[in-house]
Amino acid sequence: MSDDIIAIDGPAGSGKSTVARAVAQQLGWSFLDTGAMYRAVTCEVLARGIDLHDDAAVGALADTLTLTTTPRVSVNGRDVQDEIRTDTINVAVSVVAANPLVRQAMVSRQREWAKSQPLGTVVEGRDIATVVFPDATLKVFLTASVEERARRRGDESPASIARRDNADSTRVTSPLRQAHDALFIDTTDRAAQDVAGEIVQCLKSRRSS
Ligand code: C5P
Repeated sequence: MSDDIIAIDGPAGSGKSTVARAVAQQLGWSFLDTGAMYRAVTCEVLARGIDLHDDAAVGALADTLTLTTTPRVSVNGRDVQDEIRTDTINVAVSVVAANPLVRQAMVSRQREWAKSQPLGTVVEGRDIATVVFPDATLKVFLTASVEERARRRGDESPASIARRDNADSTRVTSPLRQAHDALFIDTTDRAAQDVAGEIVQCLKSRRSS
């Protein structure tokens, strides 16, 4: 069991998942993609025909779901690995993620999961350094130019990315924002391995100082 956490936040296409995976690999730590959790909940809400805006019904469902993110994303044993990346989910996920009851359910799962990992954990999302793990060992905020973020998210239109970023940054509960003590990295024109190396170096130098 370990309390070591690297918390990585940033908007869509900033490189969070790729960088977080690379950091976890370099350190031999676990990795958690929290966006996949909100996406999987959204799949189940839609599959059951529940009104996305019915906060109580959506929140009650989120509380009871069995979710996995590795090796594949599944909800109640149903594989949704491909479905979570569809346009339907891109459109609906920010509504589900703005629901305070859903957030409460996901945050407690994220904390429990991290606590059970033998070594450290690299967790990426929107509120990881600000809300989920405010005492993280290292906090990182990634961004990139709008053009580069749209290029990386080739399967999602620039308009959809902009709409999602706006919804995620302006919502009342746990909006996307940079923690005041986060390491800020602009990943435009940089390789994921290079950014991951900078994060690992920063962790090492903080530990040795
Ligand atoms: O990271 P990804 O783009 O897959 O996240 C999908 C959506 O999940 C985001 O647009 C956001 O609405 C939500 N999310 C969130 N908090 C997180 C991670 C993702 O609200 N920690």
